[in-house]
Parts: sequence; C-alpha cells; structure tokens
Amino acid sequence: MGMRLVALCGAELWSVPAPEGLPLDGCVSFLSDGSVAFATGSWGDDANGGVVAVDAGTGAARWRFDVPRSEPTRSTRGIWAKPLVFNDTTVVVGDFGGRLWALDAATGRARWTFQEKRDATGLYGDEIWAPVAVTPRNEFVFTSNLGWIRKLDPASGAELVADAWPVAPSRRANDSASPLAGDPIVFSAPLVDAAGTVYVAAENWPDPAWVDFEYGNPGSFKKGLATLPRAIAAELGQPHDAAEVNGDARAKLGWRLTGVEKTATGYAAAFDTPDGAVAVTCRSLVSTAPAHALKGVFDDVLPGAKPLFEEIRKNIGRDAGVYHPPVCAVTVAYPKSAFKDVELPNGFGNLRDLPGFGSLNPRTEGVRTLGTLWSSSLFPGRCPPDYNVLLNYIGGSRDVGLADLDEAAIVDEVDKGCRAVLLADGAPPPKVLGVKLWPTAIPQYELGHLDIIRRLEDAEKTTPGLYVCGNYKSGVAFPDCVTFGYDHAKEVAAFLASK
Ligand SMILES: Cc1cc2nc3c(=O)[nH]c(=O)nc-3n(C[C@H](O)[C@H](O)[C@H](O)COP(=O)(O)OP(=O)(O)OC[C@H]3O[C@@H](n4cnc5c(N)ncnc54)[C@H](O)[C@@H]3O)c2cc1C
Repeated sequence: MGMRLVALCGAELWSVPAPEGLPLDGCVSFLSDGSVAFATGSWGDDANGGVVAVDAGTGAARWRFDVPRSEPTRSTRGIWAKPLVFNDTTVVVGDFGGRLWALDAATGRARWTFQEKRDATGLYGDEIWAPVAVTPRNEFVFTSNLGWIRKLDPASGAELVADAWPVAPSRRANDSASPLAGDPIVFSAPLVDAAGTVYVAAENWPDPAWVDFEYGNPGSFKKGLATLPRAIAAELGQPHDAAEVNGDARAKLGWRLTGVEKTATGYAAAFDTPDGAVAVTCRSLVSTAPAHALKGVFDDVLPGAKPLFEEIRKNIGRDAGVYHPPVCAVTVAYPKSAFKDVELPNGFGNLRDLPGFGSLNPRTEGVRTLGTLWSSSLFPGRCPPDYNVLLNYIGGSRDVGLADLDEAAIVDEVDKGCRAVLLADGAPPPKVLGVKLWPTAIPQYELGHLDIIRRLEDAEKTTPGLYVCGNYKSGVAFPDCVTFGYDHAKEVAAFLASK
C-alpha cells in the first residue's frame, strides 16, 4: 500500500516500495554526502507515522523508525515534516502528536523526545508540521501548530529557557498591533540568519469574539461604514475628530489634489490644503479620488486620462466624461404597527417584521423612491424592537431634478413611497433619522465606459508608478472597491520594490 520512494536521474534509478502501513507521503532529507535518504510518511488517524532510511545509491533499506504505539499521542502518530539531518549523526523530526524525535542517523534508534504542550482548545491541533532549524550556536529551533517557538539542546532535547525564550503564542499576539488577537498558528519552517535572528511566519486566527461573516452576506459596523476610513485615518496618525492637526500624520485630511507633474525621480503632486498650497514629491502616486474631481489634474503628466473627464459621447447624450448623477439617502423609522398587516406569500413572515433585505421600485409603478433597505432587519441594534428603520435611496440618473428639492420635500417624496409600498392607512409621520444628498454619487458605467477605461489603462502604461483608480474602474460595489484596493496595493508595492 502507499506511495513509493523513487530515485530519478532522467530515468528511474531505483524505487523503494512503501513499507507495510507507512505510505511515503512526507518529505526527504539526505546525509551531507547524499549517501543516505531519510523519508517520512503517514496518513490518517491509524497510520504508523515514521521515518525510513535507505541507501541513496541502491535503495537498500538501512532502518525504519515507527512512532511507538506504546506512547500514544493525542491526535495521531503521523509524520509529514521534512527531517533535519544534524551533523550527519542525528535525524530530528516532529510528529502529529506534538512530539519531536531525535533519531540516531546510523541506526534509527530514538535518542530523545520532546513533548510540546497539548492543544486544550482543539482549535489548532497538536501537529508539528515545520522542519527544525539550527542556530549558529548549534541550538535547535522548533515551532508547533500551537504557535510556540522553542529552543532545545541538540544533545539532550532539554528546552533552553533563557532571555525571552520560549516565545508563547499569546505573547506574539499581544505584542502585535494587529486586531487579530487569536493565537497565531505556525506551519512554516523557522529561518535563522547568521546573527542568530529567528524569523517565523505565523498565521493569525480571528479573535473568536468576531462574528462569523460569509462573503455575500450583508455586513456593517455599529457606527456605519465611515468606521473603516476613520480607523485607517487614526492608524495613519490623524483621527478624524482630533482637536488638533498632527503635522507628522501620514493621513492628511482636507487636502485636495489639484495637479500632478513628472519629475526626474517620479512625480510632484500639488494640493490645496487648509494651510495653503503644498507640493509633495514621490516615486509612485496612486489617485483614488472620484473621476468628477480630477478634471485637469493629470493634463500635464497623463493626457491619456482625459477621456475620463472630458469624453463626449453623443450617442448617449453624455457631454463630458463619466457621469455621476445625484442620489439622496433618507433614513426614516416607523412603528412596526404602522406597516401593512400581511403575511408575505413567500412564507418569510409578516410584513410588520420586515422579514427580508429590502424592496426595489420598478419605474413603471410610479413610486419616486428607487429602493429601500430594511436596515433594522439587516443589522442588529439599529432601533427599538417595536420600530423598523428604512434607508431609502431616491434620485439617480432618471430623476436628477430631485437634487433641486429641499430636505423637507425630499422626505415627503420618500414618505409617499413608503405609504404606497409598505405602510398601512393612517400610519404616523416618519421619524426622520438622516437625509444626505450626494450630488455626484455613483459613476455610471454607460455605453462606451469600458473603452474609456481601456484607454486610461493604455496611458498608464507610459507612466510607471502613476496609478489612476477609483470606483469608476474597480466596480462600484463597496466590496469590489476594497478587493481592488488590496490587489492594486500589491502592484504598487512591487513597483516600489523594483529599481
Ligand atoms: C448614496 C450611496 C449609496 C451606496 N450604497 C452602497 C451599498 O449599499 N453597497 C455597496 O456595495 N456600495 C454602495 N455604494 C457605492 C460605494 O460606496 C462606492 O462605490 C465606494 O465607496 C467608492 O469608493 P472609492 O474609494 O472609489 O471612492 P470614495 O469612497 O468616494 O472616496 C474618494 C475620496 O476621494 C476624496 N477626494 C475627492 N476629490 C479629491 C481631490 N481632488 N483630492 C484628494 N481627494 C479627493 C474624497 O473626499 C473621498 O474621500 C453607495 C454609494 C453611494 C454614493
């Protein structure tokens, strides 16, 4: 049963069938002269995890080591890790029960073992996946799934406890400024440099206090979406509500980009700031301002960006660039008892509980509101239990006249729509929680848009380090904007890392 160990040199030199019950599905290491191969393998909870030593020239078996059944480990006896061959005398490898084995390289007999702590949570497992590394002072460094990083004495396997060693997973988690406060699990091999510095890649598990989130489901923050940019601004040194401006902050609030020029080493960006005009020079410049705010900004350095702001598309009646029509967001609340007392035909429940996501109003139905999100059904804690909160969007490219109405008139239109769709006769006036007119809301991907973006991207190729981005390029849905930002940041980082 199981896989074979095969020696190849263009053609097969030899192959060793897997020993009974020990599929060779792990890793292989060699003596320094290449004469002996040490292969690990195992599979499944009942597998005999172990190491086999074979003559690398002939494939003849030298010895076989099985993790003893008499010393049961918590999960399995499996071994997949790459063995460390130390001084050509000792083979060191961890098993899936959190135990490190030091074997005599000549005989396969165990010299010592070290038992890692047990995973009491059951979240991380007891396995040791990572190969062991050696420091310049001949100490073993090993890491476990549980997240410990330890040093051991090669001769005895005794733990070397000194200075800051061992490194506990919780210590690393707490030391980090990351909001991911869970224990960091370690799969990767430690790397030790000539100075003895140990590098380990750790995986951070989300804080168990975080709610589960499934992509595609609605998500929000208790204090709204502005939480995210505010957190970023604070992280970059300038909380949005700080009484004083921090001159050293990496985020500058209230700076408006007015122009960009090419310099010998990159770009110079001109800003209007609360303290007057400021120029910033940089190697790479990423604009994420909306297209409607960039007219003339890139004229000198990237004339190819002009279609974004100036393209005339007579066939669709567009006289300049990408169109951003106005939209108004109106948040209102009504008592549940004011809603129509009807059971929904889909079996979801009574309309008074608003069992769903929201409603869209086809233009043919004569309701001016475009659509309504049932905010208190989507997100917890938005209102008292006997109320429903509705977020209405009204306006858009087919109703630009809405932007000329005053707030009271807009709320009136929204209330009319709610009465037509959701409310029972005699419903009280709404509690108005918010009215926000966005005069240039969402860019419209109209006929010809993709061509404009293609020409922008062609132009960008001629200006390395200059990136013109935004929701007119990434897609308008917020998750698309964030995903685009993550991906694009890698491209910019690669540019900056290049010479
Ligand atoms: C009313 C409304 C409702 C929406 N609802 C949803 C929704 O329910 N779900 C969803 O997925 N998406 C929704 N969207 C779309 C989504 O929110 C946006 O597409 C997305 O937030 C745009 O991100 P962005 O970073 O490209 O632009 P923005 O978030 O608009 O950021 C652009 C930034 O550039 C700054 N800026 C402007 N001019 C300059 C300048 N000259 N110099 C420097 N900075 C400048 C602005 O101040 C702003 O901070 C909605 C949008 C609107 C308007």
